[in-house]
Amino acid sequence: MIKLAVVGSSSMDLVVTSAKRPKAGETVLGESFITVPGGKGANQAVAAARLGAEVSMIGCVGDDFYGEIILENLKKNGVNTEYVEPVTGSASGTAHIILSEGDNSIIVVKGANDFITPDYVQKAQKAIEEADIVMVQQEIPEETVEYLAELCKKLQKRLLLNPAPARKLSEDVIQQAAFLTPNEHEFEILFNGRDRAEVLTEHPNKLFITEGKNGVRYFDGHEERVVPSFVVEAVDTTGAGDTFNAAFAVAVAEGKSYDECLIFANRAASISVTKLGAQGGMPVRAEVERGLE
Ligand code: ATP
Repeated sequence: MIKLAVVGSSSMDLVVTSAKRPKAGETVLGESFITVPGGKGANQAVAAARLGAEVSMIGCVGDDFYGEIILENLKKNGVNTEYVEPVTGSASGTAHIILSEGDNSIIVVKGANDFITPDYVQKAQKAIEEADIVMVQQEIPEETVEYLAELCKKLQKRLLLNPAPARKLSEDVIQQAAFLTPNEHEFEILFNGRDRAEVLTEHPNKLFITEGKNGVRYFDGHEERVVPSFVVEAVDTTGAGDTFNAAFAVAVAEGKSYDECLIFANRAASISVTKLGAQGGMPVRAEVERGLE
């Protein structure tokens, strides 16, 4: 069984649907309310565990009711939570989502995710040392991403850095990461609007740009290639990127070729968009394999 360590955020998503979006100072009646566990770190950990990896999550929750639910959800999905600590006096991370008038508005409160410091990661070094691949995203402090990139380089661990949400990265971190997986928007921010073909050529088999239903673009050392995703009826694309990253990491750790990894990851992510919710649609291994027959 391959081993992954995910350093990242976890949160509770509070989702309201409403026909009308309230203006400043206005109160409206909504239609429904649900709470679902989310956060890019937790989503990627859950997705990888469902695909059969042994996953250790390194993160923080608040010492509140949401923290208990987040932990329970990780455990239920088979994720090792030994390195997920409740932070005394802090709220868990939350995402306040209004679905209205065909669009969403979201306020993210980082809460306990801000306590995922370099010191905190250092205490979980054992999980990183044991991992075949380490995964990280950008809903945690920037200095932690920098520390982790350096640590992985030192320990000769491959780091899959999913630069989401978009934030600039130092040249050092870009060099230290083994894989970078921005979507098109994140790519623009990361590389200051530079020419895509040129940047891809500089990062062969390392920079994988996800392009939604079109699939993934990368440079294989000889030519620029696009591995198309699978045609599905998309219901909710939330968490597609998280499923893609988890599946890609699992496949790379299993020693598959990049083409096989991308087909596997596209298949997993395309299944995830056919169901509601970020984690709701994340497939188990057998579903992905059936989809590849
Ligand atoms: P999100 O933020 O919605 O989780 P993202 O913006 O990080 O996603 P995308 O590039 O939109 O990332 O999607 C990631 C991967 O998910 C794609 O490379 C593709 O494999 C798959 N995917 C996304 N949307 C679709 C779709 N409509 N049909 C099939 N596959 C899809």
